[in-house]
Amino acid sequence: MIDIEKIREDFPILSEKVYNKDLVYLDNGATTQKPKQVVDKIVAGYYNTNANIHRGVHFLSQRATEAHEAARETVREFINANESKEIIFTRGTTEAINLVVSSYGEHYLQAGDEVIITEMEHHANIVPWQMLREKKGIVIKVVPMNDKQELDMEAYKQLFSPKTKFASFAHVSNVLGTINPIKEMIQIAHEHGAKVLVDGAQGVPHLKVDVKDLDADFYVFSAHKIYGPTGIGILYGKEEILDLMPPYQGGGEMIATVTFDKTVYNELPYKFEAGTPDYIGSTAFAEALNYVKTIGLENIEAHEVELLKYATEKLKEIDGVVIYGNAEHKSAVLSFNVEGIHHYDMGMLLDKQGIAVRTGHHCAQPLMEVLGIEGTVRATFAVYNTKEEVDKFIEAVKKVVTMFR
Ligand code: PMP
Repeated sequence: MIDIEKIREDFPILSEKVYNKDLVYLDNGATTQKPKQVVDKIVAGYYNTNANIHRGVHFLSQRATEAHEAARETVREFINANESKEIIFTRGTTEAINLVVSSYGEHYLQAGDEVIITEMEHHANIVPWQMLREKKGIVIKVVPMNDKQELDMEAYKQLFSPKTKFASFAHVSNVLGTINPIKEMIQIAHEHGAKVLVDGAQGVPHLKVDVKDLDADFYVFSAHKIYGPTGIGILYGKEEILDLMPPYQGGGEMIATVTFDKTVYNELPYKFEAGTPDYIGSTAFAEALNYVKTIGLENIEAHEVELLKYATEKLKEIDGVVIYGNAEHKSAVLSFNVEGIHHYDMGMLLDKQGIAVRTGHHCAQPLMEVLGIEGTVRATFAVYNTKEEVDKFIEAVKKVVTMFR
């Protein structure tokens, strides 16, 4: 069992008051709060280690380089990749997907080639493919859902054709919480000779990910959703595929030699890391992963699922509540509406009671269209949330409902 009160002490922001009320932070799907350990690491990085990395002969530069490369190794171990050169630092999930679509997509996909995505994708895994469609004339096919908002696996299988070159889907939906059967989906895609990218933005923070076991070609995620800093994330890619891909951006770091006639690109992972990387962010990110490891991801998941179940039961008791995302396998996301109350009004009135939730389309407008709604109210849970907070949230929803009726 985990000691939530002790964990909460690591997150000073949780003691903030909002309109003189205790903050109840249930917007973890958008970004998690950061423990002191992570913030301290950032401060110590700038106070004690700051110097631009790689190529530096001086002591501090070497110290900073070692810390940055050690962070890469921490990430490698966390997702069980083969080699640390398969870990590319990006600005986050969005940049990692754009990198793959630009570099792999523009180079290896041709007009008429098909890419499979799903109805529950975040815009970050839709728009880059549409941009590629504009440029290259690829075809995008979309996997539908069943009435529990799980992917229709029969339909998924049927979408493959000899022209399918790529499948790109979320590990966990940021709106529905649905945990997709990604191992099976990857296997099916590979049987058809297609490459696979998994958007793990909502996967890594809650579920043990083993990229080797999954056999994912690419797996991407953001540090800020797993207690780490903003502005940094990961593209994991299989070495043999990354090796074949051209660089995404040109500049420093990604070169071996440059003359005015010709540039020889650097080896992995640097080939994809043009410019000064966020070497302070990377070490803070590693600290966040170590923090999670110390608590145990399986303990975190168990705690969050318990909160999710408790909150779902309580919410269902309220008249007029509709929950979106009723999958068998579900992660810590609770999206809902209450009949006759606009999601925005609900969000605003919860905020006035100290409850932070997200409202709107959650960067998944096509999914909203499928569900026939404009938006939802979304509560998302993290390790530091408590049953008492769920009770406050439920009481606050009830209060809003009473105001409207
Ligand atoms: N995919 C999913 C499923 C997400 O939840 C998010 C963040 N809301 C993203 C992609 C984009 O992540 P980031 O903004 O950190 O690049």
